[in-house]
Formats: sequence, structure tokens, C-alpha cells
Amino acid sequence: MHQDISEVLYSEAQIQAKVQELGQQITTDYQGKHLLLLGTLKGAVPFIADLARAIELPLELDYMAVASYGNSTHSSGVVRILKDLEGPIDNKHILIIEDIIDSGLTLAYLVDVIRRRNPLSLRICTLLYKERTRLKEVPVDYTGFTIPDKFVVGYGLDYSQYYRNLPYIGILKPSVYEGTEPEEQHSSPAETQAI
Ligand code: 5GP
Ligand code: MG
Ligand code: MG
Repeated sequence: MHQDISEVLYSEAQIQAKVQELGQQITTDYQGKHLLLLGTLKGAVPFIADLARAIELPLELDYMAVASYGNSTHSSGVVRILKDLEGPIDNKHILIIEDIIDSGLTLAYLVDVIRRRNPLSLRICTLLYKERTRLKEVPVDYTGFTIPDKFVVGYGLDYSQYYRNLPYIGILKPSVYEGTEPEEQHSSPAETQAI
């Protein structure tokens, strides 16, 4: 285990088993439909890559990147699109693929943007769902794991762009980020975080 990780929450094997389960459910639900998986860069990349291969349907893949103003461990919900979808989606069923839902602010913004483009349907799939009071409630259709309100990294999830390549999901030791980014430090927002 990496020295900065205090606890492994989900092993590589546990993640893969869950991804297969989600893939089968999605395969059943989207029979005969024109499906586009919308991945959020960069965190959801390992998840969408594995999930897409667990879905036994013809499908399209596309990505959006949004940056939220905040520090490296908390988003603010003030969001800007850095990379958009390649084309119109009004003849497609959209499934947003997220790495994690924490406050819900980033996803609420994204859902708003996508809805205005009139997809045939819009659903949300997240690998991780944090147990906490959400600032914005967004209905989630597919959830991998519900996790405690701790800062996690691995399997795509970063801290300051590192740890994304860990094959498991683990809790980052608070000593790694404590002292560098106090939670109250929101007075001069810096664009530091892409989801
Ligand atoms: P929200 O807007 O729901 O608060 O946060 C969404 C984004 O914040 C996620 O896509 C992710 O980039 C980041 N985030 C929230 N919680 C965590 C966490 O525990 N670990 C990591 N690495 N990123 C997180
Ligand atoms: Mg991040
Ligand atoms: Mg995300």
C-alpha cells in the first residue's frame, strides 16, 4: 500500500466486480437505445473505460471537462466548461459517468447544462457517493459504493493531480494535505480543480 494511504476502501477486485454489476444493469436498461456515455475528465477516466467494456451494447463515448473554483479538496460549485462534447445530443440517451459525488454542486451544474440540450433521456452513474449532507440534491440512477465523508484517492481520483494511477480506492492521510489548504480559505478562489 502507498505510504500516504491510511486505509484501502475498495480493492482492485472489488471495484471490478462492482463495475461488472453496473455494466450488466445498464445493458439491461438501455436495450435498443442510442446510448452515449458522457465521462467527466479527468477523474472518471478509469471508471468509464472499464464500465464501457462491461456494457454489451453499441454505444458512443464522449467527455466533458469542467473546472470548479475551490481548493484541492473542496469544490465551490462555480463551474466553467474547459472541454465540451463534440456534437449535438438531442437524438441520444445520455448517461453521465462520474467518479464521485460529494457536495453535488459540480454535477448539478453539469446536469443543468446537458438538460438544456434536450437529450432523449438523462441519467447519472457514479462510482462513489459520499455520505454527507448535499448542497445540491441530484437524483442518481446508478451508484457503485456509498462511502464515508473522507477524502479518497485512486482509480482516477486525485489530490493535486497525483494518486490517480493507484489501482484501488483509499483514504488519503490528512497529514498529506493538512496545513497546506485550510477549509476556510475560500476568500481568494483559485481555479485549481478539474473534476
Ligand atoms: P462536488 O461538486 O460534488 O462537491 O465535487 C465533485 C468533484 O470534487 C469530484 O468530481 C472530485 O473531482 C472532487 N472530489 C470530491 N470529493 C473527493 C474526494 O474524496 N476525493 C477526490 N480525490 N476528489 C473529490
Ligand atoms: Mg480532483
Ligand atoms: Mg467527477
